[in-house]
Amino acid sequence: MSQILHSSPVKKLITKSLKTDCKELKEKGITPYLKVILVGTDPASLIYTANKKKYCEKVGALCDIVSLSENILESEFLNIINDINNDQQVDACIIQLPLPRQLNHLDYGRLINKEKDVDGFHPENVFALISNNLKSHNFVSCTPKGILTLMQENQIQIAGKKIVIIGRSMIVGKPLAMLLINHNATVTVCHSHTKNLKEITKNCDIIVSAIGKAKFINESYLSPKNDQIIIDVGMNTDTLGQLCGDVDYDNVFNKVAAITPVPGGVGPMTIVSLVQNLLQASKNRLSL
Ligand code: NAP
Repeated sequence: MSQILHSSPVKKLITKSLKTDCKELKEKGITPYLKVILVGTDPASLIYTANKKKYCEKVGALCDIVSLSENILESEFLNIINDINNDQQVDACIIQLPLPRQLNHLDYGRLINKEKDVDGFHPENVFALISNNLKSHNFVSCTPKGILTLMQENQIQIAGKKIVIIGRSMIVGKPLAMLLINHNATVTVCHSHTKNLKEITKNCDIIVSAIGKAKFINESYLSPKNDQIIIDVGMNTDTLGQLCGDVDYDNVFNKVAAITPVPGGVGPMTIVSLVQNLLQASKNRLSL
């Protein structure tokens, strides 16, 4: 019988400790405070940012969504970020991607001060991850961090395992590869130019899919031994307009040892990690 790797028990556990941490910070005079910059009205981004705000408030932290016009001028956008970077009351800031065309060329890894960069995009945070030298002032990208937590909390062994990540984006594939290498996995990163993808996926212990294509991975990508673990990062809509992953869940369910559902798998872990990073940023402010 395949194991379903629901995020809810892990989330419940972490939420409890985040609430305690938040209360303690408030008693010391600091209310964790996140700003989320949202440019435009992309429907998916509206939902993601609203979910982030809701979870921040659930643990007792502050979260403002800074909603900006799709047509905002670059100079105005940069001024707003500069004000947030200089605001002593704000611990953390993220920019909801994607950005509109006129802002796309910006080096977004350097926009937010490294102390507030809870998305882990700043070059110093990226270097700390690559060099496996993460300190408490560094932040790891939220989705990879959430995936690692979900695996660890489910006692999934990482060291020595062959892990294939499909997708090489800056927010998922690449940082996740670094994180898992740091945990002694042997990692292969695949992308749209990878040849013989099925041969690669059939010969690994764990498959992480971050492609962005609904139900792309089916049993033809899996080992016939039915012993693999699948982490589905994808958040797509199927032909009926329902949220679904990159993996054809019903098709593979009985052919794997364990699988994350969509929804209820990696998605909630990303938000949990964001708020863990936020509270870390607040603790860092306290010790300044
Ligand atoms: P992205 O930037 O579009 O990257 C997609 C990656 O998939 C690229 O590296 C691309 O290869 C690769 N790819 C596309 N088609 C492929 C194919 N046929 N075979 C092999 N590789 C292929 O996407 P992303 O931002 O990483 O997001 C990926 C998915 O995860 C999306 O569904 C997104 O909504 C979801 N997501 C979920 C969370 C969460 O919290 N659950 C967080 C972030 C993203 P190339 O590089 O060659 O183009």
